[in-house]
Amino acid sequence: MWQHTRVSTLITNIGELVTNAPDDGGSSATGGSSGETRPAGPGSYLAIADAALVIEGGRVAWTGPASQAPAADQVVDADGAAVLPGFVDSHAHLVFCGERGAEFEARMAGLPYSAGGIRSTVAATRSATDAELSGNLRKLAAEMLSQGITTFECKSGYGLTVVDEARSVALAAEVTPEVTYLGAHVVPPEFGQDSAGYVDLVCGPMLAACAPHARWVDVFCERGAFGADEARAVLAAGRAAGLQPRVHANQLGPGPGVQVAVEAGAASADHCTYLAAADIDALASSATVATLLPGVEFSTRQPYPDARRLLDAGVTVAIATDCNPGSCFTSSLPFCIALAVREMRMTTREAVWAATAGGARALRREDVGHLGVGARADLIMLSAPSHAYLAYRPGVPLTAEVWQAGQVVARS
Ligand SMILES: [Zn+2]
Repeated sequence: MWQHTRVSTLITNIGELVTNAPDDGGSSATGGSSGETRPAGPGSYLAIADAALVIEGGRVAWTGPASQAPAADQVVDADGAAVLPGFVDSHAHLVFCGERGAEFEARMAGLPYSAGGIRSTVAATRSATDAELSGNLRKLAAEMLSQGITTFECKSGYGLTVVDEARSVALAAEVTPEVTYLGAHVVPPEFGQDSAGYVDLVCGPMLAACAPHARWVDVFCERGAFGADEARAVLAAGRAAGLQPRVHANQLGPGPGVQVAVEAGAASADHCTYLAAADIDALASSATVATLLPGVEFSTRQPYPDARRLLDAGVTVAIATDCNPGSCFTSSLPFCIALAVREMRMTTREAVWAATAGGARALRREDVGHLGVGARADLIMLSAPSHAYLAYRPGVPLTAEVWQAGQVVARS
């Protein structure tokens, strides 16, 4: 058995190998910066043309020009295809039942999006069996994997009772280590106007029941959801229970979300659609990633975040799906990349970096989001010669193979 895990695999004849590698600045590099303002060094987009990659023990053991590749036990010919790190989706809500197609239809007919729509999913989730919830979750997780998402975060937040939040995080923990406790998604209807009473529950018994299954704590800091002081209380309680903070911030209008996130040392402030100059300054001088979710603006017909302003200010930007049944029901990061390029004026390189290395930063993971030596061998082989095709051919399924820890896990 030990021999099996030591078999090495050489993937060669790679047209473009996107590594995002921290220390891989060889002369064969084709990327790095094409006028991008992101600081060079760790975190820069980096790609190697006519490349090869060796996998050993589920990790990347070597990358470089194909002409210099070492021998390996087995060889895979990429036939000129592009190879990218597996996508890292740092924001998804996959534990729910029901769907809201009619709400989407009405919204496209002119009705506005509001946080209240979440409540219909809460009702369907509460009345679902564990098997129904788990089945829907696993179906969506498989859908993500087949499209190249090899790491994803998954939030609770549609149970909103101690029992329903606890089973949500427990089920999520069966499919990903990146589980987020989002009891503070919205105040459930049985609490009426008593948001203080609900925050006590979120910070008390609900947190105690959820913390053993979660890594992260999140709060929807927004008008109609939770205010700044409530958000601070939720994050502080989560931190005291061993969870790390992240925040839904500034999605529907200007507000304190980004400042609360930065103050709390959150890994990520997510949405960032309505930012003041002070919000951008705060992000730029912090380790908090701005996670942009352009599928939401697409699906709610709202203005897109100003990605260029964030990038030009030196903020680390991630792109994620926000896959959820209300405001954005896509599990496709290629779709989000195409939106980021076309609608948010990100370069193709910036968008691909944001959906891989950026997502990893937003989850504080160093083993994924890049293909440097030592990284987990999570990768995507495209049926295209370059990463740019993800935006150049929008809507076309280009993910030919998905590898996880050095094994093919999906093929189309
Ligand atoms: Zn969300």
